[in-house]
Amino acid sequence: MRWEMPVLSTNHKCAVSLDFPVLNCVPTSICAQVCYAAQGRQYYRKSIVKSLAVARLIDLDPERVARKMVDEAAGHTVRIAGSGDSLPHHKSLFDEVSRLGGSTWGFTRRIDTHQAIPSFMFSIDASSPSPVMEYVRDQVPVARRAYLRRPEDLPSPIEVAVTFPVHGHLTPYTKVTPVHETDCPAGRKRVEGCLGCRRCW
Ligand code: SF4
Repeated sequence: MRWEMPVLSTNHKCAVSLDFPVLNCVPTSICAQVCYAAQGRQYYRKSIVKSLAVARLIDLDPERVARKMVDEAAGHTVRIAGSGDSLPHHKSLFDEVSRLGGSTWGFTRRIDTHQAIPSFMFSIDASSPSPVMEYVRDQVPVARRAYLRRPEDLPSPIEVAVTFPVHGHLTPYTKVTPVHETDCPAGRKRVEGCLGCRRCW
């Protein structure tokens, strides 16, 4: 990874994303089963290497990465994380992006990351362990809760702002997942992308 190479990746649904290594993830069994980072372009060697390199550059010089993010985003809000997950210490990076006039939005499955960055959506699924469900029920406002749903899963057992029917190159299950009123409208093809919705921002 050279500094002159872009740190952001393009993303059809939300324009630009910062992708982290899956090493950062605390996956549930369902998440591991249908992981988007294990299929499609994010599974290419180049993408995996880039996510590792980006994590190293952030550790090396978070201010410089923040400046690159703001430049490359060109006014777009950066989705965190297109793959992998953020760590609590990445808060300083996102704060610096904000200080420079940029913006970020994102999801996490990590309690420690959500405690550091409570503006992130917390993503759960039917296999989320009890301590995680307790944390989300007690600490995360409904507007910040997201639920990943496979075709065979019931709706979320707790109220959520958005449900994501499982989709992906190898797991294209949206059409066979029951429709729910909280479904992501982009997943149901009712909007082009997140700019036309912003429920998770
Ligand atoms: S609910 Fe809206 S903002 Fe959230 S991921 Fe779907 S389209 Fe994007």
